[in-house]
Amino acid sequence: MFKFAAVFAGSYIWHALGVTIGYHRLLSHRAFSCSKPVEYFWTIPAYLSFEGAPIWWATIHRAHHRNVDTPLDPHSPRNGLLNSWWGWVLDRHYPEHINPEIQAKDLIKDPIYQFLEQDGDWWKAHSLAATINILFRVAIFVRFGWIPATASMLAGLAVMQVPVMLNVFCHMSKLGYRNFKTPDDSVNIWWVALLAMGEGWHNNHHALPGSAQSGIKDTEIDISWMIIKAMHKMGLVTRVNVPSEADLAKMEEEEADQGLVWQTA
Ligand SMILES: [Zn+2]
Ligand SMILES: [Zn+2]
Repeated sequence: MFKFAAVFAGSYIWHALGVTIGYHRLLSHRAFSCSKPVEYFWTIPAYLSFEGAPIWWATIHRAHHRNVDTPLDPHSPRNGLLNSWWGWVLDRHYPEHINPEIQAKDLIKDPIYQFLEQDGDWWKAHSLAATINILFRVAIFVRFGWIPATASMLAGLAVMQVPVMLNVFCHMSKLGYRNFKTPDDSVNIWWVALLAMGEGWHNNHHALPGSAQSGIKDTEIDISWMIIKAMHKMGLVTRVNVPSEADLAKMEEEEADQGLVWQTA
């Protein structure tokens, strides 16, 4: 039981950090720069948590930011709860207004990412991802036995739920608080931040999408930011975007306007 719990916890943290640091802050937002080996170090655990192809993930996420909470947002709860949860994933191709060849040119250059993308055929790309994910657990089973393999599989499947849940809950204004008056429904939710390694500070993120740091206040714990900061100190990260004084001042004005520490939506 201890072995199962330890592997599950370790795998969960590894995969969840991969999604937040690798797929989200690095590939989708280029919030920091690093070498290819460091990039793969973070994108591999994301891919191995059933997250789908990196180009697909980043392209959809960039479209979400461009069209946030409008009819063109791929997964806004405003366009239907079921669609924003899992419904949108069932599509076969990108919608007309989303094109990785235009919106993810930087990622298409990578031959490995391009292979995983399967020419933009979502079903093929998801099938390939599922196969590689299962083979990874089979390899763990062969080498270490069924307990680590099962724990790794369940951790991967658990992490898979987190971004889709975040897409819904962190865009439902009643479920969290706002530090910034962004033109969308985004909110900060502490328990999502905990599950998603710092990604639940989603109103901060929509206000400062290019920032490698999402938790702004002392109470907003952002584990992924701590790791990016440590990598920067170690020289593994060469450039890192942080909120400017002017960005932070906007938040303070917001508080003064509201007369509240947290603005509740
Ligand atoms: Zn969002
Ligand atoms: Zn984002």
